[in-house]
Amino acid sequence: MAQHPDVAIIGGGIIGLTSAYFLAKTGVSVAVYDRGAFGTEASWAGAGILPPGNPARAATPADALRGIGSERFPALSQELRDLTGIDNGYRRCGGIDFLAPEDADVTSVWAAEGIAFEPLSLSEAKRLEPLGAVEGEAHLLPDCAQVRNPWHLRALLAACERSGVRLHSSASAEAWEFDGARARALRTAAGERVTANRFLLTAGAWSEALLRPLGHRPGLHPVRGQIAVLRGNGPARVLLLGKRYLVPRGDGLTLIGSTEEPEAGFEKRTTPEGIADLLSFAGRTVPGLAGATLETSWAGLRPGSPDGLPFIGAVPGWDNVFVAAGHFRAGVQLSIGTAQAVTELLTGAPTCVPLETFALDRKPDRNVKSAFRS
Ligand SMILES: Cc1cc2nc3c(=O)[nH]c(=O)nc-3n(C[C@H](O)[C@H](O)[C@H](O)COP(=O)(O)OP(=O)(O)OC[C@H]3O[C@@H](n4cnc5c(N)ncnc54)[C@H](O)[C@@H]3O)c2cc1C
Repeated sequence: MAQHPDVAIIGGGIIGLTSAYFLAKTGVSVAVYDRGAFGTEASWAGAGILPPGNPARAATPADALRGIGSERFPALSQELRDLTGIDNGYRRCGGIDFLAPEDADVTSVWAAEGIAFEPLSLSEAKRLEPLGAVEGEAHLLPDCAQVRNPWHLRALLAACERSGVRLHSSASAEAWEFDGARARALRTAAGERVTANRFLLTAGAWSEALLRPLGHRPGLHPVRGQIAVLRGNGPARVLLLGKRYLVPRGDGLTLIGSTEEPEAGFEKRTTPEGIADLLSFAGRTVPGLAGATLETSWAGLRPGSPDGLPFIGAVPGWDNVFVAAGHFRAGVQLSIGTAQAVTELLTGAPTCVPLETFALDRKPDRNVKSAFRS
């Protein structure tokens, strides 16, 4: 593989690695640079919830990206397992979404997409899961799935390696070199000069710093999320309650998420209050988890954007710089659709979704309502 690749990807989380793998499969030469170890930031920290979807009947481009993820995750998981021997833990475990009155209209989005769901009375929901005090209208989602993020990232990394992607960890891209409207190189903190025909920025919550010298301030920012993992009698399905959820891991562990703390900035740590709040939520929702052993906890920094939608596409004003960042609470479910769109864009194929919705210079639409919060 050439030292000077066609595409240099800056940021090796789920968005960068999935894009690298898809591009490499089309024969494009790719190198990925990460300032730390690959796949150890938001993508590692996420809960791995994969809501159902149907790209053929999606109402919006974002819904279509979610649908592509829902549809293609089983096949990609199998492909990665065949190629690398690594099981990413993909599982269609089903879920129950407890909708608050103000969210009740999302069922019309689900119905229009053809997503399978079934309204449940509280007693029906309690027959399925060991529930305590829950609010909202319960809806069974048999096609809700999950993936084990750290396993998936390991599989993606191994697949990239086997596909000839050059992987550079501990390589923090810091300073651009320009040649008119073209980016010529990025210099790393260690002084290495990264050159490529084209650059794709996938640095998650840290992308804003790389976009600023290009004249763009789209408002990408970190939104801390804390997670607690309990050992005890948890649910069998994913339970979604607004911004909170419980995810059964199938090995006696239940993951409880998550806080949403933009005020924490880049401070990636758990707090006693944050974890106590999650434990109290878990114990109220599933009494079998009250007093359960806290196995572990962690925090991650979601890449937030002003309207919660990612930025995907060419960076305006530059001939050879592209971005895919800002996936906020949905980067795992949107990863396959994003990587597909990026690959199509960079290989000159028609994109699976119109990218105007995700343009870097769009006017943020603060009324965007997601069919799923995670
Ligand atoms: C607690 C929590 C729960 C979540 N749950 C879900 C969920 O259930 N379902 C879902 O779909 N999504 C979920 N998410 C959201 C999802 O995890 C993110 O949207 C997604 O991981 C973003 O991926 P990314 O590759 O853009 O960012 P990241 O994974 O953060 O990757 C960015 C990478 O860029 C690197 N980088 C940064 N700056 C530089 C630089 N200058 N040079 C080189 N490299 C650089 C970083 O080291 C990092 O590896 C959750 C997130 C959190 C935190």
